[in-house]
Amino acid sequence: MRVSVLGLGYVGCVSAACLASMGHEVIGVDVNQVKVDLVNDGKAPVVEERIGELIAEVVRTGALRATADVREAIMDSEVTLVCVGTPSEPNGSLCTTYLERVTEEIGAVLADRRQRGDGRQTIVFRSTMLPGTCLNLLVPILEKHVGGTAGVDFGIAVNPEFLREGTSVRDFFDPPKTVIGEFDPASGDAVAALYDGLPGEVFRVPVPTAEAIKYADNAFHGLKIGFANELGAVCHALGVDSHQVIDVFLADRKLNISPAYLRPGFAFGGSCLPKDLRSLVHAAQRADVSVPILSHVLPSNSAHLQRAVELVERTGKRRAGLLGLSFKPGTDDLRESPLVELAERLFGKGYDLKIYDANVSLSRLLGANREYIETRLPHLAQLLADSVDEVLDHAEVCLVGTRDPAVLSALPHGGDGPVLIDLIHLPDADARRTEPGYMGLAW
Ligand code: NAD
Repeated sequence: MRVSVLGLGYVGCVSAACLASMGHEVIGVDVNQVKVDLVNDGKAPVVEERIGELIAEVVRTGALRATADVREAIMDSEVTLVCVGTPSEPNGSLCTTYLERVTEEIGAVLADRRQRGDGRQTIVFRSTMLPGTCLNLLVPILEKHVGGTAGVDFGIAVNPEFLREGTSVRDFFDPPKTVIGEFDPASGDAVAALYDGLPGEVFRVPVPTAEAIKYADNAFHGLKIGFANELGAVCHALGVDSHQVIDVFLADRKLNISPAYLRPGFAFGGSCLPKDLRSLVHAAQRADVSVPILSHVLPSNSAHLQRAVELVERTGKRRAGLLGLSFKPGTDDLRESPLVELAERLFGKGYDLKIYDANVSLSRLLGANREYIETRLPHLAQLLADSVDEVLDHAEVCLVGTRDPAVLSALPHGGDGPVLIDLIHLPDADARRTEPGYMGLAW
């Protein structure tokens, strides 16, 4: 099929590259010329396992190209996937500005297609948005611009994305499920045809149901992490090994749940869980629905982050190191990273801090994220080191927040080096537990 993908961020560029490798003819669109140029050069605009090789291959075969021109991309498409960002507004509500803007642009092109007598195109929203956004906000924009009717003159579907950054290419080809929120059966058929051949169950549901499923998933992921971290903290205070508790809890697959996101570790972050929880709670409050558990997941996450700061303070050391900065290993995404927040708190308290993250080293950062760190986090950019050793040599106390193998193999043992604060329960945490100079946040 001829497919255009609007927004070449984490979701869009992975969707575009994977669909191209499945045999579709894909054009990616982004307002950011740096991302467009990177893709056309056969390079990935984001750091992700396997995405570099995949983009190089599909650009070389001509299955994928990119442009900044929406009209050029979607004029001849059969399906358009919308993957623009939906960040949080300052009050926690969902920002739909990018969605609205891109929908207006699509509407203008669809109007021209209609005049030309072209067949109908299906617009598929992959961005995460609150239930009702598609039908109450976006469909009216399209109908106004097109001068036509959804389900007749153009198709509409919501197809949420369940990829995990770091393993998103693998997740695309082996999805936990495929959810198709269809305005009408023909729109659902168009989305189903896109993914034909992929494993996993396909759920065809009404549009608002598809929108809500994404929130159910992300709210539950956040809840599980907060639950495990609170449990870890209480167990530690009571002298109980929380990992033993969780191991037994997880062994019960009949009444309990899957282990994903359910390990005592560090605070969660990233571009989805915090903002999706915030907007869900905001929406509930506006509707006078009391959601005490959901509204306490983010404060619980913050309290967990504060525990890490208190561990550093307890050591009485002033020269600090932080290993890891992105919101999780395998990605360069810094948005709402708890490690960024931790670095800022330590920096604000006057610690002499050095930070290392292989994916965020200034020498490796690609255009878009280099700009992000230079404009949004200039105070941290100056603290970035070029190697693990530079941080370990500098630090009297060092926080470990990544499982990067190069970091793990460089960590000293037996108090030979800085005090290590293990934020993530290192693979050899059990052996280290009795060593001097080792403190665990998550045991
Ligand atoms: P992102 O910020 O990385 O990418 C969005 C891209 O859209 C940017 O490159 C931006 O330049 C581009 N854009 C904005 N307006 C545009 C326009 N008018 N035309 C063309 N391009 C435009 O965002 P992301 O992380 O890929 O997330 C996209 C959506 O998917 C969000 O709603 C997010 O909540 C959801 N989601 C994200 C993930 C994830 O793991 N990142 C997973 C599932 C769902």
